Amino acid sequence: MAASRTADLVLTGGTVLTFDAEDREARALAVADGTVVAVDDVDGLIGPDTEVVDLAGRTVLPGINDSHLHGAWLGAMWPHTLFSGGFGGGEEGTAGPLVADAAARRAAILKAGDVAAALGITSYTEPGLGPGEDEGQTGCFTSAVLDEYAALANEGLLRARVTVLRLFGILDGPSSLADFQRGLADDIPSTDPRVLKVNGVKIFADGIPPMRSAWTHHCYTDGTSGHLLVDGEQDEERVANLRRMIDIAHRRGDQIGVHATGDRSIEVVVNAMADAIAEHGPLGRHYLIHGDLVSGEVLRRLPGLGIGLNTQPGIAAATGPWLAAALGDDVLRTAWPLRDAFDLGVPVCLSTDAPVMEPDWRRAIAAAAQWMDVSGPEAMRQLLRAYTVTPAYQDGAESWKGSLAVGKVADLCVLDTNPLTVAPADLPGVGVTTTYLGGKVVFQS
Ligand SMILES: [Zn+2]
Repeated sequence: MAASRTADLVLTGGTVLTFDAEDREARALAVADGTVVAVDDVDGLIGPDTEVVDLAGRTVLPGINDSHLHGAWLGAMWPHTLFSGGFGGGEEGTAGPLVADAAARRAAILKAGDVAAALGITSYTEPGLGPGEDEGQTGCFTSAVLDEYAALANEGLLRARVTVLRLFGILDGPSSLADFQRGLADDIPSTDPRVLKVNGVKIFADGIPPMRSAWTHHCYTDGTSGHLLVDGEQDEERVANLRRMIDIAHRRGDQIGVHATGDRSIEVVVNAMADAIAEHGPLGRHYLIHGDLVSGEVLRRLPGLGIGLNTQPGIAAATGPWLAAALGDDVLRTAWPLRDAFDLGVPVCLSTDAPVMEPDWRRAIAAAAQWMDVSGPEAMRQLLRAYTVTPAYQDGAESWKGSLAVGKVADLCVLDTNPLTVAPADLPGVGVTTTYLGGKVVFQS
């Protein structure tokens, strides 16, 4: 490394929230070749070719990482979401799949990239693409979508870094051990892993409480308790098949993200992950997705196992009354125990599940703060970490993204106001002014 090398880009005259190990706040940042080369000490790095940006009091954060966002589906539906205009809204009434051919897949992914960039999002996880959905209704979760992502990645056209979990069953539906094993043997497209990384697998353990399809120790008002979605004649066989899926994927070193909302499925999933980790070591960064009815007992085990919780405060806020209608107010009071999860040191990632909710992390954080009944700069810092540092951990990428320090990628979200100075309810009013991906502008307001 030539010490005399000057920076390509210097941002100065504002606040830099680094979210580094010391949670340092800096005044300036220098970037060369897409990487942070200095924090604060930028003067000696400014040369004739350096672009110097005066932040004029604005605030720089690490790029936002929405760790559970269905990009192609979002791009196909935008500006609609499932919750805009009511559940089941969006493109209803149109015949055929949302994306039907390669051009539509490409357009949807590019659209999602534009939507993400305008929100300061520089990374997201596409949670479930693969053969299980090749005949699916939307066309948004197919193997062909993964191939299109790979093509865009290799052409340098992706507007965000994307982590993919492969899906061998039906989205929000059944899966079989045989399909799972068959699917795992498929080739994965070759791409720069910092641009597009197929990191592991997505499994749907159960459904959701409002549909009475979460598997729970509680009893729904109709007397049922749900069951696992994994195939099998009775609970015992379904549990055995789910445990087998987790063991097989774990031994391969795949990351495993499991949609599990009921307390009973969550227990089975965490037990299976714990057994796989005990037998083969901590190979992948596994996590629970949604985790609506996770118990305190299970939560306490997660930090020691390195198992994360990826949850959507916007969905909790929007569907809490439906959960109460299905299971009662007492169950709602202990549902989505976000505050306990943070307090216990669980790796918590907040996300939107867009296009279920709109992909606005500011609204998700406001909803989380309200759900947890917290405010103030420390709470805001914690919630922002769940959108930056911890998702980088989920991606297995904390060594090179998720915080701002020398050697990390210059993925930056520039805000017109320092989020640590606003009440959570006001965060949605804070504007994203510029988004940088690897030091390059991908959005400017
Ligand atoms: Zn989802």
